[in-house]
Amino acid sequence: MNRRYSAQKMMIENSLRKLNHPTASEIYEDIRKDYPNISLGTVYRNLGTMSESGEILRIPMGDAPDRFDINIHEHLHVVCTECGSAFDAEIDKLKDFFEQIDEFLEQSTGVHIESRVMIFKGICSGCRDGSG
Ligand SMILES: [Zn+2]
Ligand SMILES: [Zn+2]
Repeated sequence: MNRRYSAQKMMIENSLRKLNHPTASEIYEDIRKDYPNISLGTVYRNLGTMSESGEILRIPMGDAPDRFDINIHEHLHVVCTECGSAFDAEIDKLKDFFEQIDEFLEQSTGVHIESRVMIFKGICSGCRDGSG
């Protein structure tokens, strides 16, 4: 493997560990502090190949830019609509429930479910405290 590509990947992985479910531009801003020569296009390209190969997770946000996650273990995301913080929730206890949904969808549509894209939105406890 090409050395330059691995170095870029390493920088992106470091940012993903440091930041909380960042967007591509947040990763870019973070890397740029140490490596001012990196381009936004390079960051986008690497995030694309890394999420396609399953090394990282792309979280589609619908009406906002996609976010990225170094935790590729299946889990749920809850995002605060006030401050934008993202929270992880383990799916283990809900496995049966989601399998039922998959089965229901397969029966009603004929589509065999292979992955799920879900995002939950609300107001985090920090923001609720601030406003109350
Ligand atoms: Zn919040
Ligand atoms: Zn996550």
